[in-house]
Amino acid sequence: MSDFLNQISRRKFIVTATASAGAVLLKGCLGNPPEPGGGNAQTQSAVQPVANISPELAPETKTVKLGYIPIVESAPLIIAKEKGFFAKYGMTDVELSKQASWGSARDNVEIGSAGGGIDGGQWQMPMPHLITEGLITKGNQKIPMYVLCQLITHGNGIAIANKHIGKGVSLQLASAKSLFTELKSSTPFTAAFTFPHVNQDLWIRYWLAAGGIDPDADVKLLTVPAAQTVANMKTGTMDAFSTGDPWPYRLVKDKIGFMAALTAEIWKNHPEEYFAMRADWVDKNPKATKAILKGIMEAQQWLDNFDNRKEAAAILSGRNYFNLPADILADPFQGKYDMGDGRKIDDKSMAAYYWKDGKGNVSYPYKSHDLWFIVENIRWGFLPKDYLAKAQTLIDKVNREDIWKEAAKEAGIPAAEIPTSTSRGVEEFFDGVKFDPAKPEEYLKSLKIKKVSV
Ligand code: CA
Repeated sequence: MSDFLNQISRRKFIVTATASAGAVLLKGCLGNPPEPGGGNAQTQSAVQPVANISPELAPETKTVKLGYIPIVESAPLIIAKEKGFFAKYGMTDVELSKQASWGSARDNVEIGSAGGGIDGGQWQMPMPHLITEGLITKGNQKIPMYVLCQLITHGNGIAIANKHIGKGVSLQLASAKSLFTELKSSTPFTAAFTFPHVNQDLWIRYWLAAGGIDPDADVKLLTVPAAQTVANMKTGTMDAFSTGDPWPYRLVKDKIGFMAALTAEIWKNHPEEYFAMRADWVDKNPKATKAILKGIMEAQQWLDNFDNRKEAAAILSGRNYFNLPADILADPFQGKYDMGDGRKIDDKSMAAYYWKDGKGNVSYPYKSHDLWFIVENIRWGFLPKDYLAKAQTLIDKVNREDIWKEAAKEAGIPAAEIPTSTSRGVEEFFDGVKFDPAKPEEYLKSLKIKKVSV
C-alpha cells in the first residue's frame, strides 16, 4: 500500500471508529465523511477515498433510494452498499429499501423518492417496460423507466408440495400427465408466483407448456405472497411455487416441498432480474447513474469470486436484509442443491452468477432478452399481438445498454469483456425449442401451447 493510501486508510479508520462511537466532530477532515445517519460506517472498510474521483466523473448527487426484494437477485445492490463499492464511486448515501412485495415496489417507483417512494431498484421482467407503457400503474399512468443492467442469472426454480413426491413431477412432465388430468376434474393443480406476467409466472408457464400441460386450461395459477404460499403448501392447499433462493432451500429444509426443476435446467444461463430506474432520475443525474452502475459491476465481480460467497451469505442473511440463517444461502451459492426428492445437484455451473456465466457477460442488459420477456407476454395474451411490431421501439427506449457500456469503460472493464452486439443470439431451452431474437414470430409459431394465434 502506498504511503498516501496508508495515510488515508488510517484517517478513514479514525473517522469510522469515532463515528461508530457516536461523535461526529472529526466529520469533514476527509472532505467526504460518512453521511450522518448512513448507518454503514462500520462496513466500509473496502472504500477508496472519494477524493480520488475526477471532477468530470463526480456524481451530481450522492443520494438515491433503491428498492429490493430479499432474494438472491438483490445481492449486487446489498454488496455494493456493504462493501463500499457505491461509496467508492461517490455514491455515499445509497438507501436500500426492502419492499414488501413486487406490487409495492411498483407503487413506490410510481411516486419516486420525493414522494416517499424509490428512484429505482430490482425488477422482474418486463416490469420496467410495463411501467413505462402505463400497463401496470395506477390510472395507467406512463412512468418512463430505463433498464440499466442485469443483476443475476439462475437462482430460481419450481417448488412442488411434498404430497406429490414420487408422482413424476420433475423437469420432464411426461409421466406426471395423468396426475394433472386427474386433479383437473376435482381441484386443479394450483401454483403460485409473486407477481403476474413476469419471470416467475413465465418460468412455470414455460415448464408446464413444454410438458404438454396448458397453464391456462389444465392448472390454476395465482399471485400469492411468498410467506402465504409456503403456509398453503404446508397445509396442502397449494401444489407448487415458482420462486427464487432462499425459498427453495427453505421449503426443502422444512420438508414442505421439493424442487421439480431449477430455472438453470429449464434455460441454462437465462436472463433473470434487472436493475432499472426512473428515466427522469437518470436523465437528471447521468454521472450518478454511472457511479451506481460501477458500484453494482464491482459488486457483481466480487460476488462471482466463490471465495467471497460465504461472506456474501453472511451479509445477505443479516437482520437488516434477509433475516435468516446464513447456511440457507451458502449451499445454493456453491451450486449445491438438495432437491428434496432424493436428487442432489452439486454443479457450480448451476449456481447463481452475477458478472459472468457460461455464455459471457451477465451484467450487460442484452436487448434480445428484453424481447424474449415481451414475446412471452404476447404468447400468453398478456400483451396484444401488435406488440410484436412495437417491441423493438419500446426496447430501444427502455433498454439503456449504452449507459452500461459507458460505465463499464469508466470502470476500466477490458474491452474484451464488453459485449459488442445487443443480441446474445439464438437461445435454446431444455425442450429443444429455440428463440431467435431476429425472428420472434417464428418462435411463437414453433410453440405448441400458446394463447396468441400466429
Ligand atoms: Ca426471480
